[in-house]
Amino acid sequence: MENPEIFGELEVRFIQPYQAKKSYECPGCNRSIDEGIGHVVVVPVESPDLRRHWHRGCWEKKSV
Ligand SMILES: [Zn+2]
Repeated sequence: MENPEIFGELEVRFIQPYQAKKSYECPGCNRSIDEGIGHVVVVPVESPDLRRHWHRGCWEKKSV
């Protein structure tokens, strides 16, 4: 999801460290988000299957 904007409305949820039960790859920096790390999940409202997990810092940098 290089350009999340094209998916229209996005729902951004913050995942608490205890909720991060597995590791994910962050599309912002292409590095992994380890288990137990708080991060954000970005869900396109119309295509929830395309949700992506981002480091909080990467997402904030991108949204500015
Ligand atoms: Zn990242």
